[in-house]
Amino acid sequence: MLTQSQLVELLADHGQPSYRATQILDWIFKKRAKSWDEMTNLPESLREDLAGKYPLRPLKHTLTKGSKDTTRKFLLELGDGRYIETVLIPASPALYGERSDRHTLCVSSQIGCAYGCKFCASGLDGFTRNLSAAEIVSQIILAEELSGEKVNNLVFMGMGEPLANFKNLCVALEMITSDWGLKIGGRRITVSTSGLVPQIKNLAELPQQIRLAISLHGPDDETRDKIMPVNRKFPVGELFGALRVWNSKKNQKITLEYILIDGINADPEHAMILAKRAASIKAKVNLIPYNKVEGLEWVRPSDTACRKFQNVLTQAGISATLRLEKGHDIDAACGQLRLKKEKGTL
Ligand code: SF4
Repeated sequence: MLTQSQLVELLADHGQPSYRATQILDWIFKKRAKSWDEMTNLPESLREDLAGKYPLRPLKHTLTKGSKDTTRKFLLELGDGRYIETVLIPASPALYGERSDRHTLCVSSQIGCAYGCKFCASGLDGFTRNLSAAEIVSQIILAEELSGEKVNNLVFMGMGEPLANFKNLCVALEMITSDWGLKIGGRRITVSTSGLVPQIKNLAELPQQIRLAISLHGPDDETRDKIMPVNRKFPVGELFGALRVWNSKKNQKITLEYILIDGINADPEHAMILAKRAASIKAKVNLIPYNKVEGLEWVRPSDTACRKFQNVLTQAGISATLRLEKGHDIDAACGQLRLKKEKGTL
């Protein structure tokens, strides 16, 4: 899968006119061709040539967990025999974006992850490789085919740190937002990061009005160090410096993700520091009570403690959502299905 400009260049190398790029993109993104053979308005020799080098479908569906009314996880196999998960979330008022009738897809950006956030299964087996732009975009195409639903909200919160795969992320974003591509508006796309400061500043320079979510989980260095190893490299002060740069370039409220873990980061004192931090960048806060991850000992605070935490924020004038229902494990436990499959325990 290539962008429009990459295709034009490639076709010129094959002695082909540039309008062929429009034809090919139309087949891929509008008609959803599954093979180059279907592109009957292209010369046969060109189709054969491209088919050998650019597989149209780099992902194979292996299994689906969940049902139409609940969160559905699709386990997808890549060309090299590795697996990733893509999660389709039914319409919900508490999820990202403003409207409640959206089908949100949570996509992966890497196989495994090098950042080792302590609440996350994706980092348990370390990092394997980046996903290509085609592998990122194919998750959306495949999820739409499997579900029969149009994905109209996208979150980069699956396996991997999207900003550590910056180049491919940018190419994928071009394919996703362009008129010749999937045509999903930037405002319907949220990129979630553990807080890679240089890349946040670079992302702020992109033309698309995408949304940014930060896996914060600790309002000060002492607390965040316990949960997010990345904080030793990019401490809270530096991170918020980058978020101010983001605010100066983009007209979108930042979301601070905050998993509430009993005895670690969920005291009212933490809420007070978090409120000040959020106010300093006019961010909203998304509170997620901790969901148990196999192999980790942390526990979820009581519902009362979670509400108390939320109240501290709202009384300080911060917009803070809290999802108390269990089973929405995509934020905290991405990557578990893949780990089971690769270890043969699924
Ligand atoms: S939360 Fe994101 S950055 Fe952290 S280990 Fe999991 S996938 Fe990696």
